[in-house]
Amino acid sequence: MADFEGNKSAASGYLRRFLDQVTGHYLSGEMRVPPGAETFSNVAPSDNSSLGQVVAGTAADVNAACEAARDAFPAWRDMPGNERKKLLHHFADLVVERAEEIALVESMDCGQPIRFMQQAAQRGAANFRFFADKAPEARNGLALHQEQHTNYTIRSPLGPVAVITPWNTPFMLATWKIAPALAAGCTVVHKPAELSPLSAMLLAEISHAAGIPAGVWNTVNGFGEVAGKALTEHPAIKAVALVGESATGSHIMRQGADTLKRVHFELGGKNPVIVFDDAHFERALDAVVFMIYSLNGQRCTSSSRLLVQSGIRDRFLAALEQRVKALRVGHPLDPATEVGPLVHSGHFEKVMSYMDIARRDGATVAVGGTRRQDLGPGNFVSPTLFTQADNSMRVAREEIFGPVLTAISFATEEEALHMANDTEYGLSAYIWTGDTGRALRMANQVEAGMIWVNSENNRNLPSPFGGAKMSGIGRDGGDYSFDFYMETKNVCIAHDTHKVPVLGR
Ligand code: NAD
Repeated sequence: MADFEGNKSAASGYLRRFLDQVTGHYLSGEMRVPPGAETFSNVAPSDNSSLGQVVAGTAADVNAACEAARDAFPAWRDMPGNERKKLLHHFADLVVERAEEIALVESMDCGQPIRFMQQAAQRGAANFRFFADKAPEARNGLALHQEQHTNYTIRSPLGPVAVITPWNTPFMLATWKIAPALAAGCTVVHKPAELSPLSAMLLAEISHAAGIPAGVWNTVNGFGEVAGKALTEHPAIKAVALVGESATGSHIMRQGADTLKRVHFELGGKNPVIVFDDAHFERALDAVVFMIYSLNGQRCTSSSRLLVQSGIRDRFLAALEQRVKALRVGHPLDPATEVGPLVHSGHFEKVMSYMDIARRDGATVAVGGTRRQDLGPGNFVSPTLFTQADNSMRVAREEIFGPVLTAISFATEEEALHMANDTEYGLSAYIWTGDTGRALRMANQVEAGMIWVNSENNRNLPSPFGGAKMSGIGRDGGDYSFDFYMETKNVCIAHDTHKVPVLGR
């Protein structure tokens, strides 16, 4: 990757076309801007300047996409798994070829620092390669024996499915959801977030170049309340995979009720990182800082609640304050930047509102709490640390989704467990301790879909990913994804030895 100036000049080259022409939909293998379409402005988080106009999809656009996905389904379903595997690997190759463009466009569109976006293409490609390799075995089932019968199960793809993604790390999340759907043999209608739609268009373009047949992959831009709603209500759509807010999950359940949609939701979190007195101090400190201030804190698995044991509290918080003060806030394309601008001015205002909420509720704003005026008109928040908080405060209960950490102290393991679980969310938790027994006890009892012990969040594609409570329904990853995107059929065959019940003879 180049230096700041080099990145800026390359990014403006890649972004030019989005300024010059309206970004439309990708339907039936073509980029389309419907005649007379309404558009909305997509803005750069770094200065709120326009990145171009995007079509606000209507129910009619969604209908066209769903029909295309429905028509393309039988041939895609029946394509041998090995053929799908080759196409998906080819797609991954082309993603890697456009790595620089993807990183720069993504960084400018959602404000994530380039240091974290550099690997976006590789990670997206890895998602595709992982599921491409599994495509030939996607239909495999189980053999289940009874004394006089043999059962076997087969899996078949559900049909056209909806993939609805959020604005934080949109490229990564879209590939994570779409790869298993296609590998399973489903066709897809993707609705990217209205606040960061550009990388979804790069993906659609790459799918075309990779030779994924027309109608197998469709992308409809637009707002959740219109395009998203129409998609989740459409009778051709058999399942909805959503990554977004918990409230959106509830809306989609209601919208999909009449057509009995299968749903998979990855939703919000207020994830605790629990640091015991006997934790490895420096490693825990590094992970605490990384897991809330990386990706601008706009990360579902961010550890936004620090629970720190009283024996090390003062030393830990003092060290933490120094680290938070030293974080480098700046333009997302500057390779030195650690924390970039928030995605949108509306989200910026929401995050800033928590500074007053924290004070009103009695917490101390130990670091940050202000706008970084010196960085210009972008959505720059100083990385913020709240101390003297307790678990009943709004800053300990609500998902702020910014570079904002709430620190709470506890005395005993029981108290830590109680506080960790005293939340409506249950996505992830991080436990730092030198005591293996305690790690196991906590891992068993903390109510979350994913627990990391003595580690920050790391990725393992076959492992289940997802949340409990208000953080989600269902799991992604490995075979879990195929379970969602496929129907399982049981076939029961008699050995012709059992007695068939006789009536009327
Ligand atoms: P959001 O729920 O506002 O939007 C997500 C997507 O849903 C967007 O594409 C939006 O247009 C669409 N949408 C909104 N209303 C809809 C409706 N009524 N019907 C259909 N679609 C609708 O979320 P966001 O603000 O874009 O993203 C941030 C949220 O996503 C946070 O809560 C974060 O925790 C969550 N998230 C969760 C995970 C996870 O894996 N659990 C990962 C990333 C983000």
